[in-house]
Amino acid sequence: MFKCSFCGKEFENALDRANCEIECDKEIKVKAERQKQEKLRKQQQERKDEVTKAYNEYIETCNKAKEKYLAIRSKYDNDYNNGYYFDTWDLNTDCFGRVIADIVSKL
Ligand SMILES: [Zn+2]
Repeated sequence: MFKCSFCGKEFENALDRANCEIECDKEIKVKAERQKQEKLRKQQQERKDEVTKAYNEYIETCNKAKEKYLAIRSKYDNDYNNGYYFDTWDLNTDCFGRVIADIVSKL
Protein backbone atom coordinates (compact mmCIF):
# COMPACT_ATOMS: atom_id res chain seq x y z
CA MET A 1 0.00 0.00 0.00
CA PHE A 2 1.12 3.48 -0.86
CA LYS A 3 -0.36 6.20 1.32
CA CYS A 4 -0.65 9.89 0.37
CA SER A 5 1.29 11.79 3.00
CA PHE A 6 -1.22 14.67 2.86
CA CYS A 7 -4.69 13.12 2.84
CA GLY A 8 -3.89 9.58 3.91
CA LYS A 9 -5.66 7.99 0.94
CA GLU A 10 -4.20 4.59 -0.01
CA PHE A 11 -3.09 3.51 -3.51
CA GLU A 12 -1.97 0.36 -5.25
CA ASN A 13 1.18 1.97 -6.65
CA ALA A 14 3.66 4.79 -6.03
CA LEU A 15 2.71 6.75 -9.16
CA ASP A 16 -0.95 7.10 -8.13
CA ARG A 17 0.17 8.11 -4.66
CA ALA A 18 2.57 10.69 -6.15
CA ASN A 19 -0.24 12.14 -8.30
CA CYS A 20 -2.46 12.42 -5.23
CA GLU A 21 0.30 14.13 -3.29
CA ILE A 22 0.77 16.65 -6.13
CA GLU A 23 -2.98 17.39 -6.16
CA CYS A 24 -3.18 17.56 -2.37
CA ASP A 25 -0.20 19.93 -2.31
CA LYS A 26 -1.92 22.20 -4.87
CA GLU A 27 -5.15 22.20 -2.83
CA ILE A 28 -3.27 23.08 0.36
CA LYS A 29 -1.54 26.00 -1.37
CA VAL A 30 -4.78 27.30 -2.88
CA LYS A 31 -6.51 27.02 0.51
CA ALA A 32 -3.63 28.84 2.23
CA GLU A 33 -3.74 31.64 -0.35
CA ARG A 34 -7.51 31.95 0.04
CA GLN A 35 -7.14 32.17 3.84
CA LYS A 36 -4.39 34.78 3.45
CA GLN A 37 -6.59 36.90 1.17
CA GLU A 38 -9.54 36.53 3.55
CA LYS A 39 -7.37 37.64 6.47
CA LEU A 40 -6.15 40.69 4.52
CA ARG A 41 -9.73 41.53 3.54
CA LYS A 42 -10.86 41.30 7.19
CA GLN A 43 -7.96 43.50 8.32
CA GLN A 44 -8.85 46.10 5.71
CA GLN A 45 -12.52 46.01 6.76
CA GLU A 46 -11.51 46.51 10.40
CA ARG A 47 -9.38 49.52 9.44
CA LYS A 48 -12.22 50.87 7.31
CA ASP A 49 -14.62 50.50 10.26
CA GLU A 50 -12.08 52.30 12.44
CA VAL A 51 -11.94 55.22 9.98
CA THR A 52 -15.74 55.35 9.75
CA LYS A 53 -16.07 55.32 13.55
CA ALA A 54 -13.53 58.14 13.91
CA TYR A 55 -15.31 60.13 11.20
CA ASN A 56 -18.68 59.67 12.90
CA GLU A 57 -17.18 60.79 16.22
CA TYR A 58 -15.73 63.82 14.44
CA ILE A 59 -19.16 64.75 13.01
CA GLU A 60 -20.85 64.13 16.36
CA THR A 61 -18.32 66.32 18.16
CA CYS A 62 -18.81 69.07 15.56
CA ASN A 63 -22.57 68.85 15.87
CA LYS A 64 -22.48 69.01 19.66
CA ALA A 65 -20.08 71.97 19.59
CA LYS A 66 -22.27 73.73 17.03
CA GLU A 67 -25.45 73.12 19.09
CA LYS A 68 -23.71 74.48 22.19
CA TYR A 69 -22.49 77.55 20.30
CA LEU A 70 -25.90 78.23 18.74
CA ALA A 71 -27.68 77.88 22.09
CA ILE A 72 -25.25 80.25 23.83
CA ARG A 73 -25.29 82.63 20.89
CA SER A 74 -29.09 82.62 20.71
CA LYS A 75 -29.38 83.31 24.44
CA TYR A 76 -26.89 86.19 24.12
CA ASP A 77 -28.73 87.67 21.14
CA ASN A 78 -32.06 87.41 23.00
CA ASP A 79 -30.67 88.90 26.20
CA TYR A 80 -28.82 91.82 24.57
CA ASN A 81 -30.60 92.15 21.21
CA ASN A 82 -27.19 92.78 19.70
CA GLY A 83 -25.39 90.05 17.78
CA TYR A 84 -23.37 92.20 15.40
CA TYR A 85 -20.10 91.47 17.21
CA PHE A 86 -20.31 87.85 16.07
CA ASP A 87 -21.47 88.45 12.51
CA THR A 88 -18.02 87.66 11.12
CA TRP A 89 -18.33 84.16 12.57
CA ASP A 90 -19.81 82.63 9.49
CA LEU A 91 -21.11 79.13 10.22
CA ASN A 92 -19.52 77.95 6.98
CA THR A 93 -16.13 78.39 8.60
CA ASP A 94 -16.95 76.30 11.67
CA CYS A 95 -15.74 72.73 11.83
CA PHE A 96 -19.05 71.28 10.70
CA GLY A 97 -19.06 73.63 7.74
CA ARG A 98 -15.56 72.47 6.88
CA VAL A 99 -16.66 68.84 7.06
CA ILE A 100 -19.38 69.59 4.52
CA ALA A 101 -16.93 71.58 2.39
CA ASP A 102 -14.47 68.64 2.51
CA ILE A 103 -17.19 66.22 1.40
CA VAL A 104 -18.36 68.53 -1.39
CA SER A 105 -14.79 69.12 -2.60
CA LYS A 106 -14.28 65.34 -2.97
CA LEU A 107 -17.42 64.80 -5.03
ZN1 LIG B 1 -3.80 13.07 -1.18
